[in-house]
Amino acid sequence: MTTPQPRANVAEIPPYVAGKPPTVRPGMTSYKLSSNENPYPPLPGVIAAVQAGVVAMNRYPDMGATMLYDALAEKFDVPVGHLSVATGSVGLIYQLVQAFCDPGDEVVFAWRSFEAYPIAVTAAGATSVRVPVLADGRHDLDAMADAITDRTKIVLVCTPNNPTGPAVTQSELDAFLARVPSHVLVVVDEAYVEFVRMDDPVDGLATYRRHENVVLTRTFSKAYGLAGFRVGYAVGPDPIAAALRAVSLPFGVSTVAQLAAVESLARQEELLERVEALVAERTRVVNGLRDAGWDVPEAQGNFVWFELGDRTADFAAAADEAGIVVRPFAGEGARVSIGEVEANDRLLQVAAAFR
Ligand SMILES: *Cc1c(COP(=O)(O)O)cnc(C)c1O
Repeated sequence: MTTPQPRANVAEIPPYVAGKPPTVRPGMTSYKLSSNENPYPPLPGVIAAVQAGVVAMNRYPDMGATMLYDALAEKFDVPVGHLSVATGSVGLIYQLVQAFCDPGDEVVFAWRSFEAYPIAVTAAGATSVRVPVLADGRHDLDAMADAITDRTKIVLVCTPNNPTGPAVTQSELDAFLARVPSHVLVVVDEAYVEFVRMDDPVDGLATYRRHENVVLTRTFSKAYGLAGFRVGYAVGPDPIAAALRAVSLPFGVSTVAQLAAVESLARQEELLERVEALVAERTRVVNGLRDAGWDVPEAQGNFVWFELGDRTADFAAAADEAGIVVRPFAGEGARVSIGEVEANDRLLQVAAAFR
């Protein structure tokens, strides 16, 4: 008897390994540093805004997410038609592949990079082309440009790169874009853009305005601390944003998520204070690790990367003992989010002892 069979590519989809919750240890506060979450609670006013929306849960959300589109358009001075909101930027990445790739088309990205990329690509029946990052964790943009073929539809540039940490510079991005054929879509994944502090940083908005084939993806999950609500947005030229909206899940972004995002956008000052504090903690952690002899890559997101090879599992276990849970990538290394001061202190202790 034959049974319904999913497309062959479905069996090939790699699993998404979510960051583990911390092990509960009696008498010890445990910290989750495995998912690059924001350790701060929601910004002031956000919970109240959400509570006001909860009572309308019997109604569908505003399908056009009008208030959120208007708020984003005003904040970034872009036309509403150049925006697409979605259920996190993971949702946007799925939609981009769905909208631009036929089965067998190629999507080029750095590796290791964000683990959702090969999942989204495989789910759509497209083909992942992974270009190894350089020894210092940076994108090898020359090799990525070289990897473009007649089948390439999308190149994903993850900056800062999750999980290794470095960001590309504007000069590097410009040189890269000059080499990419105009029919290939370049997605600049700026999930951590708010945390970037470097010379010659990418100006994503200026870049998309200069190129017909560039789209930015951003999220409320990291700097804004709304990971649990699933809301992200893309900024790109009209036809690209329109394609994204066309394939979007109807009513995907819930009422409470829309309200939380709008309220968060209005709270820029408080947001920036928190981001500054996290950046200061990042600097403290990176300096501490380097003082202890660790050769960690440049960290431009809210996390640090430890290249550990076959010591990865041991490092994760040592961290767990100390009450912090990290995100191990078996045989490669571990990514550790910048969290509460106490959690960061523990990371420094664990790392110094492990070295
Ligand atoms: C966290 C992350 C995202 C976004 O996640 P959402 O919660 O789906 O918005 C996107 N790209 C990268 C590289 C990330 O690390």
